[in-house]
Amino acid sequence: MDLLVATRNTGKLTELRELLGDAGVRLLSLDETGITEDVDENGTTFEANARLKASAYAKAAGTYAVADDSGLEVDALNGAPGIFSARYAGVETGFDKKMETLLAEMDDSDSASRSARFVCVMAFSDPEGNILFTTEGICSGNIAKEPAGIGGFGYDPIFIPDGYHRTFGELTASVKNTIGHRSKASRAFVAYLRDFIGV
Ligand code: IMP
Repeated sequence: MDLLVATRNTGKLTELRELLGDAGVRLLSLDETGITEDVDENGTTFEANARLKASAYAKAAGTYAVADDSGLEVDALNGAPGIFSARYAGVETGFDKKMETLLAEMDDSDSASRSARFVCVMAFSDPEGNILFTTEGICSGNIAKEPAGIGGFGYDPIFIPDGYHRTFGELTASVKNTIGHRSKASRAFVAYLRDFIGV
């Protein structure tokens, strides 16, 4: 079975490849299938965007496809930046500036709570564009007072996962691979896929 992993991020492809092992699935990247178009992520939820991407790319490639959508929800900001995490404070703005903006907005808010969560939704589509499965991985935690650490990417330096006292920027990749939102969703998807293909 061919499965298009609808991402330009090679890290996501490698992670799924490791989780799937010898399940008999040939994973393809967007580049390998020669698909250059981008899908307009105009959904209002992570799930809607993941579904849009999985369905559109599956039809374009004529194969099964899996796509994900993820981001950071901060309670004091009513769930922002949420689905706009990658575009927050401007598409071209770097993460140093995005984190600085987010911390400043939190200081302006009335809420004493710094609770937040990373969310990742994965959607799996058949070659005709029908969504067969979705799953959501959540990693709950708190927003640090200031960035710390250089590990990971994106908002990792300001996110302290529950049960830890350091940020994802400071913790090892193996901690994030165990408790992270994306790895939780990936594991649930891989369990489904193994059942789907009967291995
Ligand atoms: P996506 O590629 O459209 O799903 O956008 C995800 C965006 O959410 C990224 O650009 C980051 O801003 C943020 N994000 C998602 N997952 C993580 C993570 O594990 N660490 C830090 N930031 C993340």
